[in-house]
Amino acid sequence: MRYGVDLGGTKIEIIALADSGEVRHRERIDTPAGDYLATLQAIVGLVHRARAATGVIGAVGMGTPGSISRITGRMKGSNSVALNGQRMREDIAGMLGEPVAIANDANCFALSEATDGAGAGAAVVFGVIIGTGCGAGVVVHGKVLAGANAVAGEWGHNPLPYPREEDLPLPACYCGQRGCIETYLSGPGLMRDHAEKTGRHLKPEAIVAAAAGGDAASEATMVRYEKRMARALAGVINLLDPDVIVLGGGLSHIGRLYRNVPRYWGGYVFGNEVATRLVPNQHGDASGVRGAAWLQP
Ligand SMILES: [Zn+2]
Repeated sequence: MRYGVDLGGTKIEIIALADSGEVRHRERIDTPAGDYLATLQAIVGLVHRARAATGVIGAVGMGTPGSISRITGRMKGSNSVALNGQRMREDIAGMLGEPVAIANDANCFALSEATDGAGAGAAVVFGVIIGTGCGAGVVVHGKVLAGANAVAGEWGHNPLPYPREEDLPLPACYCGQRGCIETYLSGPGLMRDHAEKTGRHLKPEAIVAAAAGGDAASEATMVRYEKRMARALAGVINLLDPDVIVLGGGLSHIGRLYRNVPRYWGGYVFGNEVATRLVPNQHGDASGVRGAAWLQP
């Protein structure tokens, strides 16, 4: 038995996960907003109640927004700003009296899918979350690759490769750069591109539906999106050469991506032969908390 905690901006969830992948216990509570100490106490309470419910002590892993600086040991880059600057791993471990593994939510997603999801059995898995942002995680031989700077997988903030006329002007990104992959492939990026080209402000699912219904402008938006994703993922293949690329997040429900993106990416992968599979996730919204449970302290 192992325990996974998914710390989000509004909810904290815990599961007890058997080695078989079966969930034996689950609890969800509201996150104490903006209160670091109350957040720690809430997490410890969840762990104690889960252990009482199952009667089994097991390791605890935690998924959080943001990551732990390898230089300072403190949380950074979390959109739950009360966590930033805190020594969260040490603080939680101190309160529980045992080591706790922590990884960001994209790494947990990748680990979940690599362990017993869409990437099960693959040596190298690249897990991408495309939703409000565009994050990713790398799992090699069943382990998260964190990296010297804890930014492995932050591919969303690489520049979009081979920009064309239709990609200009390069959109500003919150990270301070322009033309980041995230500014094109996130949900807001897709909506902005469609609005710029058509003057119509539609949600991603409405653009996909309009394209399926024969609307030429929406179809053109989707083709631009797919070609951008193909160029961006070809860069990942050239660098990391994963066996499987798993998509998660709201935009991973767009079925046509799995057919069309691999049609376009061959032209950008060195050697033009691509065995990498692009697949949808299997665990959906549960991937974060399941991946946290699979982390090893
Ligand atoms: Zn950026």
